[in-house]
Amino acid sequence: MVGTQINGAPHAGTSLVQSMAFATAARLHDRHGLPVEVRFSALDNAPHELVTDPASGHRYQQAYAQVLGTDGITDLVGNLYRPLFDALSERLGVPYGVEAYSRQQATVLFRETWLRVLPRLDAARLWLAPSTGVPHLRVPCPYSCGWAEKYAQRTRVELAGRGLAHVSAVCLHHGPYKATITPTGGGYLDLATLYRNMVKELAALAETGVLQVMVKGADWMPGSLLVDGAHQAVGLTPGQLPARLFCPMIVAETGAKLSKSLIRSGEAALPAGAEPWMLDTRKWPGTVGEFADRLLNLAGLLLSHPRHFFRSYSAAELSRLMSVPTGSPTT
Ligand SMILES: [Zn+2]
Repeated sequence: MVGTQINGAPHAGTSLVQSMAFATAARLHDRHGLPVEVRFSALDNAPHELVTDPASGHRYQQAYAQVLGTDGITDLVGNLYRPLFDALSERLGVPYGVEAYSRQQATVLFRETWLRVLPRLDAARLWLAPSTGVPHLRVPCPYSCGWAEKYAQRTRVELAGRGLAHVSAVCLHHGPYKATITPTGGGYLDLATLYRNMVKELAALAETGVLQVMVKGADWMPGSLLVDGAHQAVGLTPGQLPARLFCPMIVAETGAKLSKSLIRSGEAALPAGAEPWMLDTRKWPGTVGEFADRLLNLAGLLLSHPRHFFRSYSAAELSRLMSVPTGSPTT
């Protein structure tokens, strides 16, 4: 399982995590004869527009899913991500599937999991929202406007029996509204990151016969400790916690994560040693096939020793590693 916020162009760090997911799946298949599949979770609940409501001063957001719609999200994933996935899949013989978050939140499994954990949420709330104690749930306005209060200040959730919850909130344009959540329908469930990961992982554990491995960048490591705390607060034992694989992070020369948003907003220049394609992989100076080959070569280097995973790599080092000839010794 490899999830990515689909806001903007893919970033080198994202491509690295995705290629590591494919490379690791291929190794598991080769070593243990297990059937493997990469599942790409396209987080289309990422904010597309953000405004401040002049009346309340609260921030409001419209997510990609609400702005682009199902076809728009399919096109976006098809343009930005599928070419690399197709190349990786073809080279390794590892199949993949794409699921948008919008589709996942609509599944009976996800909604039942959320409804089941709701009565125990109080025990987990400080894990999921350490600063406020209130894990955010956004249910965008149903009157086809799709705005939701970013921090859900005026969103209330009430469990109304087994398999039924009522949510009330306030729209930027339409005022107060209500939504009903059932396992098969009702309002769109947009959960804040830690909260969403808890529900997603609980749902994954409920799928029998499949071991789901969450593949993430190392910047998610502190977050996963909080999610594990939440899991245990709602009743999991440590042995039931999900399997995760953390991939190395790409950092600027300051040691901070190579951030496309900071650079794009003009707050930082392209760091020393970084190349334009690292912030927008469509600028890779070659074919997608060559990009996939380089990434898999790099994955081979990183997989040659576990210690390579518990490190970050500078943009300059990434540049060097991506230019190492294919099949050269793993040094
Ligand atoms: Zn509205």
